[in-house]
Amino acid sequence: MKHIQEIIKQYLSNLGLQVKTDIYGYGVVGILNGDKKGKKIAWRADMDALPNDFPDKVDFKSKVKGVQHGCGHDIHMAIALGIAEVLAKNKKSLHGTVYFIFQPEEETFVGAKKMIENGLLSKINPDEIYGLHVTALPVGQILVKKNEIFAYQKRIRIELKNDLSNEEIKELTNKIHSSLSRAQIGSKPWEIQYIGDPKIGLASPNTIFKDYLIIDEDFSSYSGNDTLFLEANLYETDAANLRKIIPQIKQVIEVGGYREQLLSVSFIMENPTVINDPELTDFAVKTLENIYGKGGLIKDYGQCPFFNDDFAYFQQKIPGVYFLLGGSNLEKGIVALNHAPGFEVDEECIRTGGKSFLSLILKRLNEK
Ligand SMILES: [Zn+2]
Repeated sequence: MKHIQEIIKQYLSNLGLQVKTDIYGYGVVGILNGDKKGKKIAWRADMDALPNDFPDKVDFKSKVKGVQHGCGHDIHMAIALGIAEVLAKNKKSLHGTVYFIFQPEEETFVGAKKMIENGLLSKINPDEIYGLHVTALPVGQILVKKNEIFAYQKRIRIELKNDLSNEEIKELTNKIHSSLSRAQIGSKPWEIQYIGDPKIGLASPNTIFKDYLIIDEDFSSYSGNDTLFLEANLYETDAANLRKIIPQIKQVIEVGGYREQLLSVSFIMENPTVINDPELTDFAVKTLENIYGKGGLIKDYGQCPFFNDDFAYFQQKIPGVYFLLGGSNLEKGIVALNHAPGFEVDEECIRTGGKSFLSLILKRLNEK
């Protein structure tokens, strides 16, 4: 069986691209120089599969036991290769340079960071970067939003002197959960299956997926020596609220009667979140609407909890836009709910993604 890195390398080489595979892990970077002068645009496709063994009914299912594409990164690779193919065939009229970054280890939030640390941006220097992710929205739709598209994700760690009973721990973590949690009245933004719902999903101005703080109801607890550790994940939509979280937790602990026991409260996971460049997002929306009509491009009003993408590391260095691409088709019983058992994608979204972002890249390259 040929390795994915080898397949992509071969495919891009056959198209005449310059190919680099020495940056990080299974990553591949393809460089396409147009014959005419112009901008430099990068397109990122993540590559990794998941350690799953869910039943899979497709005829191209994984041949490796315990590993499968349960998040649609195979779709991402197919779209990137399609865009590369069309642009390579039109190299003579192409302005500028297009970089195709095939990035490993998105799932673990390691790949993008490592590629940058290993000097990716000394080998290529894009002016702008774009990428996408398949989601449970209907096929044919592309969803985008300026600035944050996901919630900020943190993991909190509380250290206490280890003299609380299990009941006291439960009572305290319940208090933290109930005092910090924030959501629109009656809404449950952690119910991710509703992101595609026309009334309360991301594409509705009345979305339940805005202005919330979700915090795990069940904290994980463990102890070492004389210290009790309590940990929980949290998801906050508003960057300005992040700095209030630690003081608020400390206050709940102190008011709850554990001032003496409190040792520290800290964030132990601080991944950056995807932040779309406002100007480039506006340009992308305008371009896609002009070419494909208003039906396909959906304005996003919310921030999806739980998901995030290490594309954020590229955006810290290069202005860029990250899109969500619909892959579900309920009439056909296809639900592209990432990581869920039964995850499936309507392959029509390869065409939607391919042609839309091919158009966008061309339009950007031709901009002064
Ligand atoms: Zn993914």
